[in-house]
Amino acid sequence: MKKYVVGVDVGGTNIKLGLVHPRGFVIARSHFPTKPFSSSKSKLITVLAKEIKKIIACEKLEIREVVGIGIGLPGLIDYGKGIVRFLPNIPGWKNVPLKSILQKKLNMPVFVDNDVKLITLAEWKFGAGRGVKNLICLTLGTGVGSGLILDNRLYRGAGNAAGELGHMPLNEQGPACNCGGFGCFERYVGNKPLFALASRIMNTPDMTTPKMFALANQGNAKALRFWHEAAIRIGNGLVGVVNLFNPQLIIIGGGVSNNEKFLFPTIRTVIKRRAMGLQASMVKIKRAEFGDDAGIIGAQVLVYNAKNF
Ligand SMILES: [Zn+2]
Repeated sequence: MKKYVVGVDVGGTNIKLGLVHPRGFVIARSHFPTKPFSSSKSKLITVLAKEIKKIIACEKLEIREVVGIGIGLPGLIDYGKGIVRFLPNIPGWKNVPLKSILQKKLNMPVFVDNDVKLITLAEWKFGAGRGVKNLICLTLGTGVGSGLILDNRLYRGAGNAAGELGHMPLNEQGPACNCGGFGCFERYVGNKPLFALASRIMNTPDMTTPKMFALANQGNAKALRFWHEAAIRIGNGLVGVVNLFNPQLIIIGGGVSNNEKFLFPTIRTVIKRRAMGLQASMVKIKRAEFGDDAGIIGAQVLVYNAKNF
């Protein structure tokens, strides 16, 4: 009998669901917008339970064919206790025992974790990091997050909050960050600071990374300079990580990683030049393999690891 997992990826804009095959394929998908339900916790939990039941029913699966439900959320999650501590972009979620609430509603095992940790699990088990024992998965977007696989297991830290690479301080005098710190990595390589850099270099307001990608493809010298500077920023942030963890691989995902050809060669050069010799010689940089499905596929790995399959 096949053992499927329902993966749920809760985002600030959309909530995605997928039925995941034991080998990591997504065999059914659905999604709905977060906003209409984000005004109240119970509304969101009710629609989540309904959609989970719906995706199981639409594939005509029996409940016993579903191993469990894995849910990734964008915030601070207590994986062990199954409690959502805090979601910065969805108001009202503080210390919500989501695991126990949904288990009662669904009568199935439920596991909750941070969304970037699930992306990391997906890339490690089925994606760019297959077979790699030590890797860092970096996600670049509005926010900058990361997950750590150390000695062949997901590193969680004392409070399941490890991996906040976006909030590694690079400059004490740097701009204030919404985490309360100053000069964090995210304040240099998140979408907002990259768009600002692009607008400054092009001397045009409202520049974005997709626009800069199109210009760079046409050989625009200023756009190429933008990508070079962005890559130097990313590389500089990764040098300390390479020295600290000695990973074999850094996987880079998120929208900006679509610009691999303009970014990765410079990132590699910066690491080679600035990181310590042994660590720099061992580390590879690869693009993430899963896009939108990463969180859903990672939910499968989360559930399987928890159930010891
Ligand atoms: Zn910060």
